[in-house]
Amino acid sequence: MCGARRLNGVAPKIEDDRDAIIKVTACAISGSDLHLYDHFMPGMEKDAVMGHEFMGEVVETGKGVNGALKKGERIVVPFTIIRGQCDQCKRGFFSVCERSNRNKDMADKAFGHTTAGLFGYTHLTGGYQGGQAEYVRVPFADKTHIKVPENLSDEQVLFLGDIFPTGWQAAVQADIQPTDTVAIWGAGPVGQMTLRSAPAQTFASGFAVDAAAVRTALTMPWSNAQSEGQVTKLKSIKQLMHGPPGFDLLRRRVPSASWAT
Ligand SMILES: [Zn+2]
Repeated sequence: MCGARRLNGVAPKIEDDRDAIIKVTACAISGSDLHLYDHFMPGMEKDAVMGHEFMGEVVETGKGVNGALKKGERIVVPFTIIRGQCDQCKRGFFSVCERSNRNKDMADKAFGHTTAGLFGYTHLTGGYQGGQAEYVRVPFADKTHIKVPENLSDEQVLFLGDIFPTGWQAAVQADIQPTDTVAIWGAGPVGQMTLRSAPAQTFASGFAVDAAAVRTALTMPWSNAQSEGQVTKLKSIKQLMHGPPGFDLLRRRVPSASWAT
């Protein structure tokens, strides 16, 4: 839970008609935040507020939000800022929205092509203040939100902002088939969410591989209900497969680098 900080002690204000201001009720840290601390991702400026997985209650809306949000509604705010007008947005590729990064020219030079504007993720992605704060200004709020039904708690939906769709996407990209045996290297948050996404797509067997037993233990309910899902070494997995060693799908997930074979 957050709520400890306002930017320079001042709550954000509406700057554009399509803005909304939310009072943050929950937020999270991310492995991707490490890239800001270790300068793998350049462009952090003084007084920048981090945080790209957060949610809260709408306290103010600009005229351009046009009733898409109302005061008092609870929303999850996605990592990506969605303007909703460019070709990429129309195709549903919101992470590469071509109009929400107000520092697009800098990002084009640094990355080859701009990302969407991102919350709390340096000047290169627009310099938007993040969600590890008491209040946040949400640009293009008529598009940049996920409404939360009243019967769901913050803890049940917070991860929709970043980590759950990241894990889901890993499972989708691996094109998991019902007869596949799936091994996921790294049972951290992304690996956990990948496994928890996988039952919806079904697979024959799932294994989580991690040096930390406490992490693999957390995957048990989602590792196809097989007690042997808790393994920590490749050798152990091969012994459990009751057949020729080998996997149909391997998935490794670390921040900013993932691949499937
Ligand atoms: Zn767009």
